[in-house]
Amino acid sequence: MAVAPPLPRIHRLPESVSNQIAAGEVIERPASVVKELVENSLDAGATEIVVEVVRGGKELIRVRDNGHGIHPRDLPLALTSHATSKLADISDLACINSLGFRGEALPSIASVSRFRLSSRARDFDQGWVLSMDTGAAGECLPAAHPQGTTVEVQHLFHNIPARRKFMRSDQTEYLHILEVIRSLALGRPSISLRMQHNGKQVFFSLAAGADALPARVEQIMGRAFTRAALPADYQVRDLRLSGWLGHPDRHRSQTDRQYFYLNGRMIRDRQVNHAIRTAYGDGVPAGRYPEYLLYLEMDPAAADVNVHPTKHEVRFREAWNVHDFIFAGVRQALEARTQADAGAIRERGAAYSAAAVPALVAKGAATTPAAGCTLGLPRYCLSGRYILAQRGSELLLIDARAVRARLLRTRLASVSEEQPLTSRPLLVPVDREIEPGQALIVETHDAVLARYGLNLQLLSPLCVRVCALPALLAHADLNALLPPLLAGLQRAGQEHEEVEACIKSVYADCVPAFTVADPDVNEMLVLLRALEQDGIDTGAAHHDGLWHSLDAASINALIQYGSGAGARGEPEA
Ligand code: ADP
Ligand code: MG
Repeated sequence: MAVAPPLPRIHRLPESVSNQIAAGEVIERPASVVKELVENSLDAGATEIVVEVVRGGKELIRVRDNGHGIHPRDLPLALTSHATSKLADISDLACINSLGFRGEALPSIASVSRFRLSSRARDFDQGWVLSMDTGAAGECLPAAHPQGTTVEVQHLFHNIPARRKFMRSDQTEYLHILEVIRSLALGRPSISLRMQHNGKQVFFSLAAGADALPARVEQIMGRAFTRAALPADYQVRDLRLSGWLGHPDRHRSQTDRQYFYLNGRMIRDRQVNHAIRTAYGDGVPAGRYPEYLLYLEMDPAAADVNVHPTKHEVRFREAWNVHDFIFAGVRQALEARTQADAGAIRERGAAYSAAAVPALVAKGAATTPAAGCTLGLPRYCLSGRYILAQRGSELLLIDARAVRARLLRTRLASVSEEQPLTSRPLLVPVDREIEPGQALIVETHDAVLARYGLNLQLLSPLCVRVCALPALLAHADLNALLPPLLAGLQRAGQEHEEVEACIKSVYADCVPAFTVADPDVNEMLVLLRALEQDGIDTGAAHHDGLWHSLDAASINALIQYGSGAGARGEPEA
C-alpha cells in the first residue's frame, strides 16, 4: 500500500515573501517603479520632481520631490504593507482623490531591491533616512535633506533571477521609463518634471500654467500632432471632457498615442476606447487608431479605480452614460472641424457669384463652377429633398433621398461580422412600445441587429429601448424605422438571408434626404461628393432615379415655382 504524503499544514508567509508576491503584480519592470514613485510624489503635493535613472533603471532609480514629506515616526510604516496615509476606512475607498491608496508600492519595491527612503517633513528641521536591503529594514538615522522626499532603488530584482531575466536591454527599459514620464507629465501639467538617464538630461518640462499647456503638449505629442489636432471641450452637468483629438487622417497602426486621463489618472479602458473609436467612425479606417489626449473630470465617487493593482483600469458606476458622454464630446469636436471646413467651402461657393443662376436661366450662358463636384454646384434645396445643381450651362435635379439610399445600399452590401455598420449611441435613449411577440424577435436577432448598428434593449415584453442607431440613419424617423423593421423580421423567420434582406430594405426606405429640413450648400455638396466616390458615372446627364438634366420646359416650371411661395432657398443676390 502506498504511503500517503503528510497532511499539508497552513502557515503564515513571512512579510518579505508576501511583499515579493505583491511586487509581482505591481512591479513589472523599472518603469513601473518610476510610475509608483512619481505618483507618490504627486500625491504628496510636490511641484518639482526629479527622476534619475542609471542603465534603464536596472542599476538605479532615484526620485526626489519637494512634497510634504513623511513624518519621522512614520518612515518604517511607509515600508510596511497595507500602510497608507491616503485611506482611513472603507468609506474612503468609494471616493479616491489620490493616485495611490493600496499601501503596497513601497514595501513591494523594497522587497526586490536595495532601497533607501529619505525625507524631511514639512515643519521639521531635521531629515531622516531609512534603508532596507531586500526587505530587511535598517535603522532610522538623521540625515540632511531639504523638505520633501527622496527614494532610491538600486539593483532592482537582484534577488529574483526570474524577474531579472525578463528585463530587456537598458535602452528598451529606458524607453519604457520615458513613456511613463511623458504620460505623467501630460497628466499633471502644473508640476515641473525632469529626468536624467546615465547623468544626461533627457526630459525637462517646466510647470505649465493653463495657457502654457499647449506648449507641453507640443513638446510631448509633437508638432505635427498639435498643428492638426482638434480641441475638445464638452460639459454636461458635472462631467467634463477636454483636450485634443488627433486629426482623423493621422491614424496609426498602434494605440501608443492614446492618452486618456480620469481626474488626472491615466487609464486604459475598453469602454472609453470604444466610445472614442465609434465617434471617429469611418473617418479612421478599420484596424487603425486615432491619436488623442483627453481629460475626463467627474465626481471621483462615480468611478471605482480599485479594480486592478496597477490602477490602469476603472469601473464607471454609470458606464453607459459615461460612454455616451465621451462619444458626444468627441463627436462634437470632430464635427466642429467639419463645419470649419464647410465654412471654407461656403466662402468659395459664395465667391462664385450667386447671380449666376438667374443669369444662366435667362440667357443659357456657360459658366464653370469654381467649387462643386462632377454633379455641379448645388444651388437650392427644394421641398427638403431635391437638389438643384448647376453644372456648366446645365441644370440638374437630384433626388437627395435616392442618393442617400444608394449610398446606404452600397455600405450595407459590405456589412459583415468583421465590418459591422458604424453605430451611433443615442445620448438620450428612446423607449418604444412594441407588438406582442416582437420581444422574441428583438432577443433572437440581437447579434445581427448589432452588426447593422442597431442596439435595442428589452425593457419588458412590450417595450424596447433604442440605445444606438446606425450612424447613417442617425437622423431617421424612428417611427419609420422600428415598426416596419420588427414587423418585417417577424415575417422573415430565421433564414439568415431573409433577415438581412429585411433589415436592408427597411433601412433604405427610411433613410432621410438630409439631417436637417433646410440643408446648406455644404451639406448638399458633401452628399454629392460621396456619390462621386460610389463608382457611378456622375458625369452623365441622367441616372435613373438619382438625377436628370432639366430641359427648357422644366426650367420654366421651376422659375414659376421659385417666384411662388414654395421655394426653399431664395436667390442670395
Ligand atoms: P500608497 O501610495 O498606496 O499609500 P505606498 O507604498 O506607495 O502606498 O506609500 C506608502 C505611504 O508612504 C504613502 O501613503 C505616503 O504616506 C508615504 N509616501 C510615499 N512616498 C512619499 C513621498 N514621495 N512623499 C510623501 N509621502 C510619501
Ligand atoms: Mg503609492
